[in-house]
Amino acid sequence: MGDRSFLNWPFFEDRHRQLADRLENWCEANLPVDHGEVDNACRGLVADLGASGFLEYTAADKDETLDVRSLCLIRETLARHDGLADFAFAMQGLGMGAVSLFGSGGQRRWLQKTRTGQAIPAFALTEPESGSDVANIAMSAVRDGSDYILNGEKTWISNGGIADLYVVFARSGEAPGAKGLSAYLVPAATPGLEIAERLHVIAPHPLARLTFNNVRIPESARIGNPGDGFRIAMAVLDVFRSTVGAAALGFARRALDETLKRGASRRLFGAPLHDLQMVQGHIADMALQVDAAALLVYRAAWSKDMGARRITREAAMAKLYATESAQRVIDAAVQIHGGDGVRKGSVVERLYREIRALRIYEGASDVQKIVIARTQIGST
Ligand SMILES: Cc1cc2nc3c(=O)[nH]c(=O)nc-3n(C[C@H](O)[C@H](O)[C@H](O)COP(=O)(O)OP(=O)(O)OC[C@H]3O[C@@H](n4cnc5c(N)ncnc54)[C@H](O)[C@@H]3O)c2cc1C
Repeated sequence: MGDRSFLNWPFFEDRHRQLADRLENWCEANLPVDHGEVDNACRGLVADLGASGFLEYTAADKDETLDVRSLCLIRETLARHDGLADFAFAMQGLGMGAVSLFGSGGQRRWLQKTRTGQAIPAFALTEPESGSDVANIAMSAVRDGSDYILNGEKTWISNGGIADLYVVFARSGEAPGAKGLSAYLVPAATPGLEIAERLHVIAPHPLARLTFNNVRIPESARIGNPGDGFRIAMAVLDVFRSTVGAAALGFARRALDETLKRGASRRLFGAPLHDLQMVQGHIADMALQVDAAALLVYRAAWSKDMGARRITREAAMAKLYATESAQRVIDAAVQIHGGDGVRKGSVVERLYREIRALRIYEGASDVQKIVIARTQIGST
């Protein structure tokens, strides 16, 4: 099971420790799942996580806030066992983040379904010409009587193809740039919304490019006020960014655990591999990076839970450090496993593929550095 001493850190309450224990038992009984047919595997994971009550944490009741420490603990634990289980859980939260934080009474009814695993949401922000440059979104939302008509394209949309509903960010035109965007809740079955292409990546999960061709939605589908789309997207990412760090932390912990097992069981030059001092140097670096990442992740989560309005700097630091250090930790694990480290299907080979995208999505590492620098410069 690896090191769980971090659960005694002052960031956590007893209810967090109980949650971690309950989930650990669930993971040992249910994970990993077969990833062979990825859409079905994901649907199954969402249903099972919903039936076990863990998806309750992905949304908050009105006037309550999301418990970010629970979100991070769940993501870390799931990622340590199975990256696809982490993905399935995370998307229930990210997909509905805008509704959970800003949704109207009618929109919030969807939360009953996403929190029980009966509906799958997606978060549709990225476009072919607007990834890191969110303010460049081109998709249009034009008023037509009491409706809106959406036209444009979204790409790299996780759960694209299996989602029941999409939270879509489009240009409504109240002002140029970031201030002219709004957010909309669009059921997948709405006429004109098509899955144009399924995208395939090195650690497979449902992913698609979507086209919107005269997609008509009622005014009640708009989340928040006109022109609030950018603010809503950033507020959602502010909550969920530290949880990406938590997933990376789970991958890194698993890599360290696998390395410790391998170091004890593999004999080299007449002694266990972990007797070699250069291997010990790797293990020390790995353990140090895991603990440093955990401190940053749970500092960010705790700060949000303690009522900080924004945790932009803390979340950016958590995501940047945890994802970049996990890549280094996993690379060292592959190295220490020798040939078995690159054998298709081995745990560390899977981790090596799973960690990579986390350094790109929800704000690439380079972008996190800019965010951190700006908060530093702004504070002088
Ligand atoms: C597996 C996966 C899942 C995803 N899921 C979703 C999803 O569910 N919903 C969604 O909306 N999007 C999703 N995305 C999209 C993701 O958020 C974007 O890929 C990401 O924001 C980067 O955008 P881009 O790919 O267009 O790269 P670009 O914006 O073209 O950036 C390319 C690179 O340029 C560098 N860079 C960018 N900006 C700067 C800067 N200011 N300074 C210095 N360097 C910079 C970074 O290294 C970056 O990786 C997903 C992506 C992947 C890979």
